[in-house]
Amino acid sequence: MATSSTTTPQATVYGYPRQGAGRELKKAIEGYWAGRVTAESLHATAAGLRRDTWRRLADAGIREVPAGDFSLYDHVLDATVALGAIPARHRAAVEADPLDGYFAMARGTQEAAPLEMTKWFDTNYHYLVPELGPDTVFAANPAKLVGELREAVALGHTARPVLLGPLTYLLLAKPAPGVAADFQPVTLLDRLLPVYAELLSDLRAAGAEWVQLDEPALVQDRTQAELNTAARVYRELGVLTDRPKILVATYFDRAGEALPVLAKAPIEGVGLDFTGPGAANLADLASVGGLPGKRLVAGVVDGRNIWINDLEKSLATLATLLGLAGRVDVAASCSLLHVPLDATAERDLDPQVARWLAFARQKTTEITTLARGLREGTFAIGAELAANRAGLASRAASALTHDPAVRARAAATAAEDARRAQAYPERAVAQRARLDLPLLPTTTIGSFPQTTELRTARADLRAGRIDDGTYQDRMRAEVREVIAYQEKAGLDVLVHGEPERNDMVQYFAEQLTGYLATQHGWVQSYGTRYVRPPVLAGDISRPHPMTVDWYRYAQDLTDRPVKGMLTGPVTMLAWSFVRDDQPIGDTARQVALALRDEVTDLEAAGAAVIQVDEPALRETLPLRAADRPGYLDWATESFRLSTSGVRADTQIHTHMCYAEFGEIMVAIDELDADVISLEAARSHMQVAHELAGAGYPREVGPGVYDIHSPRVPSTAEAVALLRKGLGAIPAGRLWVNPDCGLKTRGWPETRNSLEHLVAAARQVRQELADSPTG
Ligand code: GLN
Ligand code: ZN
Repeated sequence: MATSSTTTPQATVYGYPRQGAGRELKKAIEGYWAGRVTAESLHATAAGLRRDTWRRLADAGIREVPAGDFSLYDHVLDATVALGAIPARHRAAVEADPLDGYFAMARGTQEAAPLEMTKWFDTNYHYLVPELGPDTVFAANPAKLVGELREAVALGHTARPVLLGPLTYLLLAKPAPGVAADFQPVTLLDRLLPVYAELLSDLRAAGAEWVQLDEPALVQDRTQAELNTAARVYRELGVLTDRPKILVATYFDRAGEALPVLAKAPIEGVGLDFTGPGAANLADLASVGGLPGKRLVAGVVDGRNIWINDLEKSLATLATLLGLAGRVDVAASCSLLHVPLDATAERDLDPQVARWLAFARQKTTEITTLARGLREGTFAIGAELAANRAGLASRAASALTHDPAVRARAAATAAEDARRAQAYPERAVAQRARLDLPLLPTTTIGSFPQTTELRTARADLRAGRIDDGTYQDRMRAEVREVIAYQEKAGLDVLVHGEPERNDMVQYFAEQLTGYLATQHGWVQSYGTRYVRPPVLAGDISRPHPMTVDWYRYAQDLTDRPVKGMLTGPVTMLAWSFVRDDQPIGDTARQVALALRDEVTDLEAAGAAVIQVDEPALRETLPLRAADRPGYLDWATESFRLSTSGVRADTQIHTHMCYAEFGEIMVAIDELDADVISLEAARSHMQVAHELAGAGYPREVGPGVYDIHSPRVPSTAEAVALLRKGLGAIPAGRLWVNPDCGLKTRGWPETRNSLEHLVAAARQVRQELADSPTG
């Protein structure tokens, strides 16, 4: 029996939510930053949270708990520290005090900018980008990994240390400031591998039987050279003798061409994702002849969505896998970091719906149940299977997930519903006649500063300190101020300022039938910032107009056009937990139809300009190129479906918060929006040239004001950017606007910046009028 436990199926997880049930970690870290919490007390809170997590995992039946996945800020930053790759500008701070230096890298100081932050693959988690260069010297710093391993061992656990793998680390890195932009961090591999070897040896000495090296980069399309590098990495680490057994974890998609590389490598374990597009791993694994003699960690429970697993389906997958590896363990597809902690905390949810939800704790139980079923037979988990079947059946039969009216309407939607009735040139003429705007019209992206007063009013409303009427009055007062300000500043197309919106997705989710809100469903976005994504659980319909009253209120205050302002279907899905019981394109279509009604209601209320924001369009792009056309199909179709119900003279705007369109350029065109605003100030209008180069035929508002910092651009700067923009886009199709919404800015800098923006537009208009060809 003693030996069989190492080959019979066990349950494990790659990582776990960090902050604790009462958001203890966030409070402790922010308290430390504010000087209210000592370092000692912060460390004690962190250790307490790790202890609770390990205990919970062990009690649920996890034999080998992860250690080192915990983080005070970010696991990629932790890897940077473990590898000694501290950027030069932060070295003194880190040497003076490792904790303060760590937070300095994450958040910056007066003297030194923080590391850049970017999205962790296609999740909504953000990591700190390693900065490397030809001079980078790595040095092993095992303190955190070894420390947390020892902690777990001292508490009586078998722990598996978790560390970002060398290939993913290098592929996520970027050239350090001052290093040539074409520097390839992968060229540092020879320097990096000995440091990994040292860390592995330290972990072994501290008692680790296994180590988990996370290599999510292996699920992206990789060049042959990169695959060869992967082979080399795991050959060189594999042949080391003084090391724990190596488990290479891949997740977020299928391993594809990396699978045979891992199968052949002299490592002991491979983790594969069998959910979503990762399901292809099953056939791929069979076709490479499996992983004989190796441990396969099978991610059959979706680690990044919140629905209960189909246990019988997972058991069937696992049964097939049993024949394909030396040992099969059961896990979530990725770290549980991406889901909230505990669905049973959601006491306000209808219990009929709550039983469909599985957060980290429930997923842990699903995983241990599956492992038990695999070990002891389905008979041993009969009660769990029956409860699971009942939960799935209740979801399938629910009126929430099946609204006949919504379904009938979606089914009756025809291809022409997702096309404007008139081609762009005809629309442009009609819109010009109706709007009568000057050349280079000025506008903003939608939100104005979310002041403390606005936030306080919202908090007061939630806490019952003010009633809804008082709240609405305060928001209306803000709209009056924002409209009056814009008129005075001389902007041409106005906005109401979005004071009533807590969040651009949540605001709509709260008003759509089919969406649910959680009370405690916090998920880490970055550092101590956590979000509570809405849950798109059922068929989507719109019981009432959502924005029309606000639009009307604002438009009645001014003769200038006010933009209707909506969040698009792709973004509504991207920043929510989305039902997984139907194709995502079907869900997108339902959201699009609800938004379409809002768009036509805005038009009927008099809106001549309606903006539908899609900042998430690019970030939701599937990791594998082969999956992108399918995604872009439903994404662009649902945008058009929501915006195509309007007359020719109603102008549809869209907005995106980035400048690198690259492979989505064609999709941008397919949106068929009359006007697109986008980020361009920091990239010096490069995007305007790219759009022009791709033959983009419609109107464009490349941002001339970088809203990411409080810095006020001068009129001359904005003029220079506009002239650059004119080098690409003809004056008749160029708009003047900031890069993005102003909600994170303060009023003083907003006022100054917008005044400069208007002055710049006026100056360039004058230049055009004066020029002989203008
Ligand atoms: N209309 C939104 C705003 O101005 C757009 C925000 C965004 O694109 N992220 O705030
Ligand atoms: Zn934006």
